[in-house]
Amino acid sequence: MMTRMGKALLICLPSAGLAVGLGYVVEWMLGAPISAAGLLSSALVPILIGIPVIFFIEGQSIKLKNAIMTLDLMREEAEERAKRDSMTGLYNHQHFMEKIHEGGRRDDGSLIVLDIDHFKNINDSYGHAQGDEALIHVVNAVRKAVRSKDVVGRIGGEEFAVFLLDASKEEAKSIASRIRKTVEKIDFIPEDGVKAPLTVSVGVAMKGEVDNVIGAMQLADKRMYRAKESGRNQVVASGLEAEVFDLARGTQG
Ligand code: GH3
Ligand code: MG
Ligand code: MG
Repeated sequence: MMTRMGKALLICLPSAGLAVGLGYVVEWMLGAPISAAGLLSSALVPILIGIPVIFFIEGQSIKLKNAIMTLDLMREEAEERAKRDSMTGLYNHQHFMEKIHEGGRRDDGSLIVLDIDHFKNINDSYGHAQGDEALIHVVNAVRKAVRSKDVVGRIGGEEFAVFLLDASKEEAKSIASRIRKTVEKIDFIPEDGVKAPLTVSVGVAMKGEVDNVIGAMQLADKRMYRAKESGRNQVVASGLEAEVFDLARGTQG
């Protein structure tokens, strides 16, 4: 990259040469004596004016480029923020659905839906701020239990979903079970100093079990509710297919 002085000289020196040439021709045409001082000042004027002007323009152009780069960065950050839930940093519901559509053209993905058990009791017993803390503990446990390529989203207040691309049902079941166990092991000790249990109910569905990702989400959700009905703190990964298959086609509510 050419330096600022290099650029200035590249413009000013030919201008100075042109000015000297013109001065020489004008003096010759007017029959005036050709003076070295006159020619020298013709050469100096474009250099003395040109160099600071070019330095100023270059400085302004660098400032403009920096401002454009800062704006681009701010726009990217704002776009990224809009995709995430501010409390947990996880993808929000809308972006999670976009991600699974994007990565879900193949049928060998699985979906996990999980919901914290009796979370209202945590808020009621220890207050909302402690509830938030418990929720973050659960999110960290989910992050720890999934693989780095899995997509995790917060799809409701205390409800989360994980999309596992290229995971068989067996792998999905084992990751779901790891999530359940990791949450169960959380040491959540609220301000009263007594450990409070945290558990989740989990539903698993293969995308291939129904004909679209929305259907798979509904199936995983139904299985999560089945886990709640069956006593909570458990994983349900089968059953309800026909019912949800119909639901995915809009024939059942
Ligand atoms: P279940 O086992 O059936 O899921 O019972 P639950 O108490 O978890 O279910 P319910 O839907 O009755 O209550 C969910 C509660 O989660 C209610 C809501 O106030 C709380 N909640 C949702 N989002 C947040 C949050 O961001 N922070 C806190 N502290 N509480 C939240
Ligand atoms: Mg709950
Ligand atoms: Mg819930």
